[in-house]
Amino acid sequence: MSETARNIVAIDGPAGAGKSTIARKVAEKLGYAFLDTGAMYRAATWRAMHLGIDLDDPAALAESTAAMVLDLREENGNQIVRVDGHDVTEAIRSPEVTRNIHKLDRSRGVRDRLVELQRTIGSRGPTVAEGRDIGTVVFPAAVCKVYLDASLQERARRRAEEFAKKGIHVNEGALAEEIRVRDEKDMTREIAPLRRAEDATVVDTTSMTPDEVVDVIVTLARFSC
Ligand code: C5P
Repeated sequence: MSETARNIVAIDGPAGAGKSTIARKVAEKLGYAFLDTGAMYRAATWRAMHLGIDLDDPAALAESTAAMVLDLREENGNQIVRVDGHDVTEAIRSPEVTRNIHKLDRSRGVRDRLVELQRTIGSRGPTVAEGRDIGTVVFPAAVCKVYLDASLQERARRRAEEFAKKGIHVNEGALAEEIRVRDEKDMTREIAPLRRAEDATVVDTTSMTPDEVVDVIVTLARFSC
């Protein structure tokens, strides 16, 4: 078994399942690095928009992604994302970027480049990686795979709560519909669709606290994965 396979905790799941928060805490507890692959797709989307690249031109998108200088780092417990020297930590979470990611996530050239980067990062040392295709495509040999899920209603409620903490009030029903559409796109795209790897453990977090979810995954990683 390769060293990387043993050193990776792969976490996949739909939008709003709490993957980033949970993966970061699991990484902290295990003393592993944390890799948020969604941030990479967001960064590539931000760059293409910033440079006015035609989002319907897959070759141009792949070229832009290959040229991107991406810096992902943890500073005081927060992830800071820089693209070509610009701090885009907040900008990559904007509704415009979120809406346009699907133009990039189906481009083979974009995915190949980002997957290559993800594997390079994962080969540097023990890593908790989260996304949509970690257990199926990026690290299929990983021994520890988790599929995080929660009911659509609960995921929308959590997202609304996150927004409320920032003083933004959103309609939970509209949010649920947005999440449902995003999941459908992620699950039905031709390349690397979101699906549970056959050997992944499903953790349904609908009625669990974040700490409970973290404990389950840390235990899995330490003992059974
Ligand atoms: O996890 P996050 O919500 O930041 O992901 C944003 C989007 O990035 C997903 O909806 C999907 O379009 C894309 N993505 C992907 N493959 C990954 C991670 C994210 O296609 N491994």
